[in-house]
Amino acid sequence: MSYRLIQGGLTFKFAAAHFVLGETGCERLHGHNYLVEVQVLGEQDEEKNLVIDFLELKPFVRNFVEELDHRVLLPSENPQLLVTKNEGECFVEFLPKKKKYIFPVVDVSLLPIKNTTVEEFARLLTIKMKPLFSKYPNIESFEVGVFEYKGQGCWKKITRDNSS
Ligand SMILES: [Zn+2]
Repeated sequence: MSYRLIQGGLTFKFAAAHFVLGETGCERLHGHNYLVEVQVLGEQDEEKNLVIDFLELKPFVRNFVEELDHRVLLPSENPQLLVTKNEGECFVEFLPKKKKYIFPVVDVSLLPIKNTTVEEFARLLTIKMKPLFSKYPNIESFEVGVFEYKGQGCWKKITRDNSS
C-alpha cells in the first residue's frame, strides 16, 4: 500500500524579488510572496511506520526557503544575463537591452538555474531532495510545488528511477 505524505500545505513561504527573462525582453523587477509544498510518495517503513520523518524533511524545505527569502533572485545560468560581483556590490546587465541593476551582494541569491520561474525553483528543490532516495529506500518519488500565490504555480515530480 502506497502513501502520500504532505509537508507544507503551502505554508512554507518566502518573499522575493525577481524578473523573468524572455528571448529579447526582461520583465520589470517585481516581487511575490511565494509558497512551497512538498509531497512524498512511498511505502510505509516497517520499523518506524512512517514514509519519512517530518523532522528530516522539514529542514530541506526550510533551508531552501531561507536561501531565497527577502532577496533579489537571479539566475546564474542564463547567457543573456551578465552578473559580476565586486566589493560587496552585484552588477547585473540584461545584455539584449543593456538594462542594468546594482544590488548589495548580501541582498542577492544567485541560483544555478536559467530563469527565475516557478518551474526552475521547483526543479532546484527536487535536486536538493535527491540524497533522501538513498537514505529512504521506501520512497518512490517527491513532488515539489512552488507557487507565486495560491492557485498560480508549478509542481515538479522526481522519481527514484528517473531522477532528472
Ligand atoms: Zn513574477
